[in-house]
Parts: sequence; C-alpha cells; structure tokens
Amino acid sequence: MNEMSPSRPNNLDSFWMPFSDNRHFKGTPRMLARAEGMSYFTPEGREVLDGTAGLWCCNAGHGRREITEAIQKQAAVMDFAPTFQLGHPIAFEAAARVAEMTPAGLDKVFFTNSGSESADTALKIALAYQRARGQAQRVRLIGRERGYHGVGFGGMSVGGIGGNRKQFGAMLPYVDHLPHTHDPARNAFTKGQPEHGVELANRLQDLVALHGDTIAAVMVEPVAGSTGVLVPPKGYLERLREICDANGILLIYDEVITGFGRLGTDFGAERLGVTPDIMTMAKGLTNAAVPMGAVATSNEIYDTVVNNSAAGIELFHGYTYSGHPLASAAAIATLALHREEDLPGRARAIEPYWQEAAHSLKSAPGVVDIRDFGLIAGIELAPREGKPGTRAMDIFRKCFDDGVLVRVTGDIVALSPPLIIEKPHVDRIFGTLSDAIHAIH
Ligand code: PLP
Repeated sequence: MNEMSPSRPNNLDSFWMPFSDNRHFKGTPRMLARAEGMSYFTPEGREVLDGTAGLWCCNAGHGRREITEAIQKQAAVMDFAPTFQLGHPIAFEAAARVAEMTPAGLDKVFFTNSGSESADTALKIALAYQRARGQAQRVRLIGRERGYHGVGFGGMSVGGIGGNRKQFGAMLPYVDHLPHTHDPARNAFTKGQPEHGVELANRLQDLVALHGDTIAAVMVEPVAGSTGVLVPPKGYLERLREICDANGILLIYDEVITGFGRLGTDFGAERLGVTPDIMTMAKGLTNAAVPMGAVATSNEIYDTVVNNSAAGIELFHGYTYSGHPLASAAAIATLALHREEDLPGRARAIEPYWQEAAHSLKSAPGVVDIRDFGLIAGIELAPREGKPGTRAMDIFRKCFDDGVLVRVTGDIVALSPPLIIEKPHVDRIFGTLSDAIHAIH
C-alpha cells in the first residue's frame, strides 16, 4: 500500500484532467475505484450502474476474466516489440481477427492506439491512396457539422464541433463540411432512423460542384454519438455512397462508437446497409482494457498505396505502439468473447425494451427530444435560460449520487450501456434518470 488513501487521494493537483471542469471536480471529486460486470464501485464501495459502458467502450461489461488473463499471459511472454520492419505473431493474429469481423472487402488492418489516431490515420491513408492512383490534386477532406473524430489535428479539423476547435487557431486548410442531419422540427421523438433528411446528402453534390475533383474523402460517423446521438435519416448514407462512387471520393466511416455490437450488428455498416471504403475503430476493440484503435481498408486501397511506391517503406505513418502485444492480446480475447456471447445478438434482443424505456421519458419535464438506435439513446432537454449545459450537468451529478452513470453533452443525456445489460438494469437506468429529470429544473 502506498500512503495515498484509496477514498481520498492526498493530491489532486498534478493530473490535468481531459475534457473536464478541473476546478469544480477537484473541489468535489467523483472517484471510481473498481469495476465488475455492469457496475463501477466508488472507493467507499458504493455501486454505480454503468449506463455508458465507460465512454462507449466496455461493450462486454467490466472486469472480464478472459481479457484480463490474456493480457497477463502476454505481459509475461513479451512486453513489447516494434512493428517497424519487425513483427510479432500476436499482432498479425489480431489483425486477422479484426479483418474477419469487418464487412466483406475491408480486409487490411492498420493498428493505432485510440480513436483520434484512427481518424488521422484514415485521413492520411485516403490522401496517400488518391496520390498513389494519380489523383494528387485530391487534397480536400469533407466532414460534417456535429461530427466528432477525436482530437488530433486531422480529426479535429474534419470534425464539426466549434467548441473543440476555437482554442487552437488554425486547422487543416483544405477542409469543408456537410450540414448535420439533426432536424427536430420534423423528426423529434423518432424511434430508430428518422424519416426526414435524405436530401441533406445532396449537399455533398454541391460541394463537388464547388471543389471539383479536389475532394479525397468524406468522413462521417454512421450514428453521431458524442454530439448527442444523431441517427442518420433513412436513405442518407445510401445517397452519400452514390455521390462518392460517382465522383472518385472515398467514403470513410468513423465506427469508433458504432463498431463491435453497439448497433446490434458487428459494425454500423452492416446495420445501415452501406459499406465504406475505410473504417475506423477503437474503444470496443479491446473492451477498453488496453488502449487500441484500428483502421480497416479495402485490398484495393492497400494494393494501390503499396504497389505504387518505390521500393522500401510504402506508407510513412505508424506509431511505436501499433499492434502492441498487450493490446493485441486484449483484442483477440475481446473478439472471441464478442462471438461466443453473441454481443450484437444480445444488443438486438434487448433493443425494443431499451427503446420503449427511453421513450417513456417523453412527457418528463423539459424533455424536447428522444432519439435511439441499437443500444444508444439520447434524451435532449431544454436548456436553462442563459446557462446552456448546466441542467444536464446537474442531472449527471444527481444520477451519479443516486447510483447510475450517465453521460451528458450540452443539454443532451447520452446513454450507451455495456451490451450485457438486462431488463432490470434498463429499468434502473431510466428510473433513476426520470427521477433526476423530475427533480432538477
Ligand atoms: N471518433 C469517434 C466517433 C468517437 O466517438 C471518439 C471518442 O469518443 C473518437 C473518435 C476519439 O477516440 P479517442 O478518445 O480514443 O481518441
């Protein structure tokens, strides 16, 4: 034991916490010390039911013995070895398992350590591919308003969240954005995919008219998670795919949230019936037990980049920890669990119950919209006048005190539980949330 009490660390000063209100947190800290199954436990032993799978990432639930043991075993065999001009078997094995799971045609896997790195890697591969096939003028990247692709300069620039950019000045220069698809006037309280908004995909056609053949790729989340659960309207992704195909543009999906069972299928591409050319992954890939991300591409993209380069290194990109042995072990064990326990099937089976429970909050005070798809739900509240975000933040704090972890973004409560969730957990999450919404105005 070190001297630091598990319930009250002596010193909160050194850790500059990410995406946090450091000043408020350090005054009234909320600590999690242990996790098992559907729950976290505070240092004092109080249970907090996990309504968010950590940060949309512990899809198989917490503390899975199979994953822990795989990591321990690998750590004892080999802690680290480079994957630059060297290999270790477990990284190749992990890539093969990922490629087995990704949609047909997305067969080559590049490893990263996070969703942000996956986004930047996908954008760089898209640019390298266009150049390799003789389209070096294609330097432009298209994102979407309210898109989140992590915090690297590529993902941040292509992402569409002003608040994440304004502190940092200049972004990548050759970037443009599609409008977001959120249309509460026509789609509020829709269950599943909204009816209205397919025409918003035609804005890509307008960008093609504007930028000509300088567009390399379009990157979107199949369902936007971090900006409050924005489900694509019916036909929207189909139309984006058509416009990309007709104009030599690559379609990139950011499946960091929607991958690994979250939408009731292995990937969002399958549930939504539209396959991209490049797909990013992270989070559920290792059940978040060791950081790891990945980018899957078609053989055509790989072959074009690899075969059109001079002898030697073909893609000048990679991370010290690409295919890290411990992460590879965690990924292999996680993907095995995913199949053995049919996590997508479990998500699908409970989705109707989840959906009804989410929409049961429709008449709660201040609720202006509810959205859901797969095992995701977003409950949007009217903001307090002049104080946006504070109402949802107070609801988050009350739910935590009452034993349920929810996530908030602006005045939207976003839920994404582990896929092993059962009906009593669903009842508890929405019951606690309902009480908090009724109590806090
Ligand atoms: N892309 C999407 C769609 C995400 O939701 C996230 C994180 O929430 C990221 C990228 C960034 O992932 P990370 O925080 O692992 O860098």
